[in-house]
Amino acid sequence: MYSVLKHVPIFYMFLILTTLPVVFAANASDNLMLATNSINTTQPSLISSNTNQSRIKVVASFYPVYEFVKEIGRNKVDVTSLVPIGVEPHDFEPTIQQIQNAETADLVVYNGAGLEKWIDKINAKFKVEASQGLNLLMSNDTGTSGTYDLHVWLDPILAEMEVENIRDALVKIDPANTQYYKANADRFIGKLNDLDDRIKTELATCNKKDFIAFHNAFTYFANRYGLNQHSIHQGLTPEGEVLPQRLQEVIVLARDLGLHTVYSEDLVDPRSSEVIAQEIPNGKVLILSPIEGINSEEQRAGIGYLDKMNENVENLKIGLECQLK
Ligand SMILES: [Zn+2]
Repeated sequence: MYSVLKHVPIFYMFLILTTLPVVFAANASDNLMLATNSINTTQPSLISSNTNQSRIKVVASFYPVYEFVKEIGRNKVDVTSLVPIGVEPHDFEPTIQQIQNAETADLVVYNGAGLEKWIDKINAKFKVEASQGLNLLMSNDTGTSGTYDLHVWLDPILAEMEVENIRDALVKIDPANTQYYKANADRFIGKLNDLDDRIKTELATCNKKDFIAFHNAFTYFANRYGLNQHSIHQGLTPEGEVLPQRLQEVIVLARDLGLHTVYSEDLVDPRSSEVIAQEIPNGKVLILSPIEGINSEEQRAGIGYLDKMNENVENLKIGLECQLK
């Protein structure tokens, strides 16, 4: 409702300006441009807000890839996310307009490993799969989620490899700025290394190794840091109803493991996690974000991948009963 109301004055401004007499035309067109610009900035994931032709136009498939491109390309690229960055990407289907927009880009970057089942519909000038060359785990999901586990970005070391693939693609299409892209990639990889060090240190002395995520997004993460992932939703996607029988199984599991925390996600309904938490001693629900998107408040506050990973670590430290220093 808020976003609709916000557009009403712009709409009226548009009507008034377009019906003004010709003598006011010059002034009106200036104002109209302002109005158009403000529409663009309310939809950063769909419409590029930068009109500087010298920038490389990149369409990233979804949030983490979008952020990695932004970190490496900075002010040499104009990047948008095809999946709106507050939308869960697993069952997303792009519109014809979104596909056509991606086809006008200099570069399309996608995660791959089966996340973007629609990627072949885009006839891009240049396309790069960020997860190319990574050792992917086979999916143990018998549903529709594909052959491989696609959640590579949740392992900071695999995220570094995605950053390197994106860097190499930018260097290839814009070799004049090779040093710029390499320096930015090195800086971001340094931050990912710091994150990896921090996780290793802070999750080193915990009473528990088991945690219950909402969906199976954390297998790479758990393998990297020696943890055991369980999940409420047993698939590799968070879609679909959790049946009462499964809730009961997870309640028994949580009690057997002596866990007091059940995780939910930022883009899903938390009620399944809440039902389980109510049935275990001192049960509570915390967020363990698969960072498959971020909400609009987080976007406005400038929250990004590293912040979300740090939040996950803080919430894991509670669930795993780590010694807080
Ligand atoms: Zn997922």
